[in-house]
Amino acid sequence: MRTTVGIIGAGPAGLLLARLLHRAGIDSVVLESRDRAYVEHRQRAGILEQGTVDVLRAAGAGERMDREGLRHDGIELRFDRRRHRVDFPALTGGRSVMVYAQTEVCKDLIALQLADGGPLLFEAEALAVEDATGDRPRVPFRHQGREDVLECDYVVGCDGFWGVARNAFPAAASRVFERSYPYAWLGILADVAPSHDELVYARHDRGFALLSMRSPSVSRLYLQVPAGTKAEEWSDDAVWAELERRFETDDDWTLERGPLTQKSVTPMRSFVHEPMRHGRLFLAGDAAHIVPPTGAKGLNLAVGDVVTFARALVHAQETGSPDLLDAYSATCLRRIWQAERFSYDMTTLLHSAPDATAFDARLQLARLERIASSRAAETDLAEAYTGFPLTGAGNNPCA
Ligand SMILES: Cc1cc2nc3c(=O)[nH]c(=O)nc-3n(C[C@H](O)[C@H](O)[C@H](O)COP(=O)(O)OP(=O)(O)OC[C@H]3O[C@@H](n4cnc5c(N)ncnc54)[C@H](O)[C@@H]3O)c2cc1C
Repeated sequence: MRTTVGIIGAGPAGLLLARLLHRAGIDSVVLESRDRAYVEHRQRAGILEQGTVDVLRAAGAGERMDREGLRHDGIELRFDRRRHRVDFPALTGGRSVMVYAQTEVCKDLIALQLADGGPLLFEAEALAVEDATGDRPRVPFRHQGREDVLECDYVVGCDGFWGVARNAFPAAASRVFERSYPYAWLGILADVAPSHDELVYARHDRGFALLSMRSPSVSRLYLQVPAGTKAEEWSDDAVWAELERRFETDDDWTLERGPLTQKSVTPMRSFVHEPMRHGRLFLAGDAAHIVPPTGAKGLNLAVGDVVTFARALVHAQETGSPDLLDAYSATCLRRIWQAERFSYDMTTLLHSAPDATAFDARLQLARLERIASSRAAETDLAEAYTGFPLTGAGNNPCA
């Protein structure tokens, strides 16, 4: 099999890249190790930055998002039994975010790809990336029990944190920056209307809690738990009781309970692999970087990476200049490190570390107080939350 761009992984990064390339007239093949149902139902991100929303619309994948997604103009910070709303449009010149689940983004992109895009092979596991520094890198893969090879001009590893593409970088040319956290998130999906119409980020001495949503009738809630916790250790009643404690306020706000349909634990990690290019192999999304989910940045960073790659390749084909491809890693990393910083700040602002002292707790409250009382501090949060600019001037991926 032969193509211009071999894409490993059909998460948001790989699927969106295939769409952007297709619209630019560049052919690609996507290899995905799991089956379609798995990819379409894996519960993960839910917050799309303004720039991500603009890119999906420009790529022709925004129709259902615009119909069913929920535009959010703010979040609530909850601490010391108090509530403080951060008003995004007022602080950022009109920007907002969209609540639209990653599962739905993937469903929309898969449907488009299968309708008129290049090949998208499910249950096709890439085994390695070979000859990344040559003219024709190759991806051996296994599909429906048979081994085959995809020959490409370029390979983009969109295969997530556990993928194979990163392994093709020689150790001497790689640097890894990472931090793990002594806590994790216990996430639940519940069939009950969200108890608040915007996300609530709660800092409590017992630990962090987040109220989020997937739709007007489905709530998504998270609890900070110790690293290594297993979801089965928490009964449904215990989850609700702990959420109620951490969201408590001095007014009459209450948390509505409902039947749980899913319960899982997500570890918290910060990770960056530099550089993101080796010869004709490029990394995009979670394959190159991970952020703790507190800043809601992971999917949005993946979008920034693939927009940067698609633009660079179109530029190379139109002008013959490899300048933008050569700048790919540095361009992406500037935005990635801002998201790493913001995600770390939000995580340490709101979570309670096992070795935290009373002094640390007072500092967290002082930082929250500062956000609630200073327009400058609040604007800093609002700008970062609604998203750092994608590459170039605008958000049209084809520009
Ligand atoms: C609980 C949770 C909540 C989150 N909340 C948010 C949020 O609110 N906002 C946000 O922006 N981000 C959030 N994230 C992060 C976001 O989900 C990820 O950053 C995003 O999925 C990254 O997309 P990706 O395409 O790079 O990688 P992935 O989604 O991991 O996709 C990689 C794909 O590659 C496939 N693959 C792996 N190895 C191979 C191989 N050898 N051959 C072929 N295919 C392979 C995998 O099966 C997978 O489909 C959250 C994550 C979690 C876990």
